[in-house]
Amino acid sequence: MPTSSVDLLSAAYNDADRTIDLRRRLHRHPEIGLHLPRTQELVLDAFADLPIEVTTGKSTTSVVGVLRGARPGPTYLLRGDMDALPVHEDTGLPFASEVPGAMHACGHDTHVAMLLGAARLLAERRDELAGQVVFMVQPGEEGFHGARFMLEEGLLDAVPEAPVSGAFALHIISNLPSGSVNVRPGPMMAAADQWKMLVRGRGGHASMPHSAADPIPVAAEIVLALQSMVTRRVDVFDPAVVTVAHIEAGSTSNVIPDTAFLEGTIRTLSAERRADVLGAVRRVATHIGEAHGLTVDFDHVEGYPVTVNDVGAAATVLETAAELLGPPASLRMAAPLMGAEDFSYVLERVPGAMAFLGACPPGLEPETAPGNHSNLVVFDEEPLPAGVALYARMAMQALAG
Ligand SMILES: [Zn+2]
Ligand SMILES: [Zn+2]
Repeated sequence: MPTSSVDLLSAAYNDADRTIDLRRRLHRHPEIGLHLPRTQELVLDAFADLPIEVTTGKSTTSVVGVLRGARPGPTYLLRGDMDALPVHEDTGLPFASEVPGAMHACGHDTHVAMLLGAARLLAERRDELAGQVVFMVQPGEEGFHGARFMLEEGLLDAVPEAPVSGAFALHIISNLPSGSVNVRPGPMMAAADQWKMLVRGRGGHASMPHSAADPIPVAAEIVLALQSMVTRRVDVFDPAVVTVAHIEAGSTSNVIPDTAFLEGTIRTLSAERRADVLGAVRRVATHIGEAHGLTVDFDHVEGYPVTVNDVGAAATVLETAAELLGPPASLRMAAPLMGAEDFSYVLERVPGAMAFLGACPPGLEPETAPGNHSNLVVFDEEPLPAGVALYARMAMQALAG
């Protein structure tokens, strides 16, 4: 008899201790970036007694697991990221980070634990699967482009005869009601690009600005002009955020400095808007400089692209979550989050979806609970089995034959 949603969820709850134990072990020993040897070891250990072919990354400590179903069919990918943040944990939890200056403040420890819980449930139900499940356990989500390295190393061809044709990822969020699954079709998270500029003037005496070339008013004019640019040049239905987050110039009250430095971020929800706004920021800055006879060196670093959920995949997540957890737990988000995710690289290549699993701890309100990346963030562990079951169900549906 095929596993029903109820059976799958209760199997995940029966395994809750194992899931939570793995999560806590990961939580105590967070690692940052692309090289996470200790974390990788725990992941390999958890895979060890499962009928899953495991390979490890060449350029990073990524892990790819392949589970083959009883019958041939397509290949479906489930992603869990495993890196932590350079944050000093102040939660006081009994299993708090033992590494000063590092913390699983984005909950990626829970992602690994849920993904491995799902691997176990799926391995036990291999005969119900027509096709393969690829488990993508990635380092370096927090700004290190870990997913891109895995794609370059052939992630999508982990099963050569059946390249990955669908993908799903969960992200835990402390500011959403515990146990809720939140998703939307189309843009789910933003593209994030950084820019820097140096306004080059000519220093001098603060009493004689006409004989210097003061970069400070030019920098100030650029800051304001960028705000006008966003409101006048950007369609509100394809929005952009431009934030000047860092500005620095001068050293004392009677000296005009020769340069002013500015840096910030651009967030957008479409590739077209992204290119357009980047061009506009550069144009506004360099031309304001020119208008005043100064030059502006402009530089940018491309961050992650827009995370775009496939319309059908997002609908499947909503249906699956409603079936597993009840309709009130399945929530269609009205708007994307303007944060960024490198699962976007996977979703650029194959249709799929990323969903958010709410984990606001009991006694706190989602709106005011410390958020992801905070030194005080706590994730409720109660919904972890629900996440395990959702991961597993998404794969079972894709490989139902
Ligand atoms: Zn994060
Ligand atoms: Zn994250």
